[in-house]
Amino acid sequence: MPAMRSRWKDQEAKGKSALDLLVYRSRLLGADPDLVLWGGNTSSKDTARGVLWVKGSGKLLRDAKEADFCALNLHKLRGALPRRGMTDAETAAFLKNCALDPKASRPSVETFLHAWLPFRVIDHTHPDAILALTDTSKPREFCRKVFGREFVFVPVAKSGFEIAKRLLSEFGKKPGAKGAILEKHGLVVWGEDDKACYRRTIEAASRAGEWIRKHCRNPKPFGGEVIRPFPKGKRKTLLRRIPAGMKSSMGREFPGYFCCVDDKETLEFVCSARGPALSGKGPTTPGHIYFTKRTPLFLKSNLSSEAPLDINRSGLAKQIKKFADAEKKYFRRFAGPGMRMQSPYPAVVLIPGVGMIAAGKNRRAALMTAEIYRHTIRVMRAACSIDDYRSFSPRQAFEIEYWLPGQVRQSA
Ligand SMILES: [Zn+2]
Repeated sequence: MPAMRSRWKDQEAKGKSALDLLVYRSRLLGADPDLVLWGGNTSSKDTARGVLWVKGSGKLLRDAKEADFCALNLHKLRGALPRRGMTDAETAAFLKNCALDPKASRPSVETFLHAWLPFRVIDHTHPDAILALTDTSKPREFCRKVFGREFVFVPVAKSGFEIAKRLLSEFGKKPGAKGAILEKHGLVVWGEDDKACYRRTIEAASRAGEWIRKHCRNPKPFGGEVIRPFPKGKRKTLLRRIPAGMKSSMGREFPGYFCCVDDKETLEFVCSARGPALSGKGPTTPGHIYFTKRTPLFLKSNLSSEAPLDINRSGLAKQIKKFADAEKKYFRRFAGPGMRMQSPYPAVVLIPGVGMIAAGKNRRAALMTAEIYRHTIRVMRAACSIDDYRSFSPRQAFEIEYWLPGQVRQSA
């Protein structure tokens, strides 16, 4: 977990309007991939005018611009507070009615937490260091050790509405809290001042990272190397050859674009004893599932052979088919009436001794999938250095993956 630094510059922030400061703060948060890769959201309130500005769903914080934020009627949003429950689909429909400009970006399904907390500015991110604390067997205990009573702890919640309800209830018990840790999800911080709020995110992620470094009790979190990485030239050849095999196995469902990664951290993971088991546990935070799927395909290798990988066309095809069959079974186990299955094929393929191939429907999506999985490896490494890595149960992962139809889903 590398140390974090504040990117805030008073000179750049000077003279900006409240909305411009929101854009500025969002871009600073998004500029740091250790804080947020996908999703995350930010807001600013004008209580006197009854307006909440919140980031639109599916927009990246790092590219934030004024048009990515939607203005919503704060009084209408607070009107939903007495309700007992709301699915994300119901929330999306409700939020549409709160928009002051019907043509504006669709607001995040996590908007309620921004509306209901009584603070002018709120930031929600998914920092690697925070996830490394919460994606363990003792998330509440670790968070208490790191943050004491400064941050409230919110257990896993199914919907944006439920996250907001639970957060508000925990905040009610500790009104002096500076923020919240969301189990297997991320961080929420609040304040009255943009700069202070931004810095609070940096401080919380830094503090978690520092604590993990100090309390590392396992110098080999992945159980040590069981296969040596191939020489660079051979890795490149194999990484070039495998996507063609994937394409012929997946046919029309091949996403079209892929990105190959064989950096040191990825190689450590794919060559390790625990890599196959850890990769089967699931994503670090809900939003990542839409890129990486619940689990990657970790290719099986024959370690006793001279050519340790069975990556000829038919061997690869067999492993891809086995993955797809298991995905179909997983879907049948949890699906409700009328649900349509997503592609059963892997979005990430891990190859012992070689590296990773990440697929996506366009170049940007393939790069994002690869980047998300690189951070997944980093979070797993840190979690295993202090305890062990935990993710969502198969049922929880299914509910996340099939939460909402199509485009509305990509807002976690
Ligand atoms: Zn989130």
